[in-house]
Amino acid sequence: MNYIKGYRCTICGKFFETKDALLTCPECGEKGILDVEYDYEALKKVLTLDYFKNNNNYSMWRYAPMMGIKEDHIDEMLRIGWTPLVKSHNLAKVLGLKELYIKDDGLNPSGSSKDRASGVAVLKAIEAGAKVISCSSTGNAASSCACHAAHMGLPAVIFVPKRAPIGKLTQISLYGATLVVVDGDYKAAFKLSKDAINKYGWYNRNAAINPFMVEGKKTVSLEIAEQLNFKPTDWVVVSVGDGCTVGGVYKGFNELFKLGLIKKVPRILGVQSTGCEPFVVASKNHEPLKECEENTIADSIAVGIPRNPIKALRAIEYSKGAWISVPDEQIIEAMSLLGKHEGIFGEPAGVTGVAGLRKALEEGIISKDESVTIIVTGNGLKDPNNAQKAIVKPELMEADINKLDIYLKGKGVI
Ligand SMILES: *Cc1c(COP(=O)(O)O)cnc(C)c1O
Ligand SMILES: [Zn+2]
Repeated sequence: MNYIKGYRCTICGKFFETKDALLTCPECGEKGILDVEYDYEALKKVLTLDYFKNNNNYSMWRYAPMMGIKEDHIDEMLRIGWTPLVKSHNLAKVLGLKELYIKDDGLNPSGSSKDRASGVAVLKAIEAGAKVISCSSTGNAASSCACHAAHMGLPAVIFVPKRAPIGKLTQISLYGATLVVVDGDYKAAFKLSKDAINKYGWYNRNAAINPFMVEGKKTVSLEIAEQLNFKPTDWVVVSVGDGCTVGGVYKGFNELFKLGLIKKVPRILGVQSTGCEPFVVASKNHEPLKECEENTIADSIAVGIPRNPIKALRAIEYSKGAWISVPDEQIIEAMSLLGKHEGIFGEPAGVTGVAGLRKALEEGIISKDESVTIIVTGNGLKDPNNAQKAIVKPELMEADINKLDIYLKGKGVI
């Protein structure tokens, strides 16, 4: 059953009543990013607490009625979502927080939150009868699109900037996609992919432009809420690049609120790197977004011109949240903190939320008696080169028990 009512333009606010898939606003053109709206009264009757209690599909597809997808092929897809929500004991103590949860989205099939959007994109491409799916990305959308397209036998053409980390590049080729490494930055890759998609008529998985990507991304909030018995934490922390993820995080909670399943929408902390912080600058100066340099090791959020600014800004504003940025050194520290205290290995952009939370606590934006969920958006194995900056490289040990003795004493293990 398709519960879509229509699409609302985020710029002109016009509502287009149709069940068919739309990309951008017919009146505002390419910048007129749309929001999918549902018949919430009809959904309310279906999505009851009992629906969730009796649903034993432990993946994001359990939310299919509120994702605007046909359910014909979901059983053939890889398992996406229903990632663990880990209650933190050690990191919470280090940060002085009473209640902290970590949503480990790096455990998705291709190792990042992007699987939530790519899964929907691949299904939509199949629904539309597309012959090829395509996207440009800083790396994770690319590798996840390649992953799910491969599983469903759909050819993929993927554009990445030349700085994409080795783990992500390797994934794309290994999944058998046609890889185009663009000699330039993400802006250049995005532009070339747009031209190619228009020219060849491929299915467009580019995040902002396709409103269904947010329908996938929002499932992370649906899961967090459900995993906490529909009592989500006071705050949810997430790193921000293009702004689709944070837009989805807000939409998910807001729709649960509309459906009467949660009593309040958590406040959202949007975190960027100081090396690329267009949202933080704009919110500090109360001015429109300005292009920034893309100068951070957190490649997944190195987005100089965010493609989904309106949804992202509203997510923070409407949830009464906050924007914050952290330098790369703190991101590297966060990687080590999360590994050492929780056994969770995140890529730089994946742990940026941890660094942001720490700073927000220091600055009093979040208080220690509030409850918090951090979303770890990407797996550390994707970017082993940057992970090396968070560790001390081991020296070679002679096979000699006395030398070992000295080494272990130095480490305080014996
Ligand atoms: C894409 C991505 C983000 C940010 O998502 P946006 O939609 O670009 O804001 C954060 N972390 C990781 C690991 C990502 O891949
Ligand atoms: Zn419009």
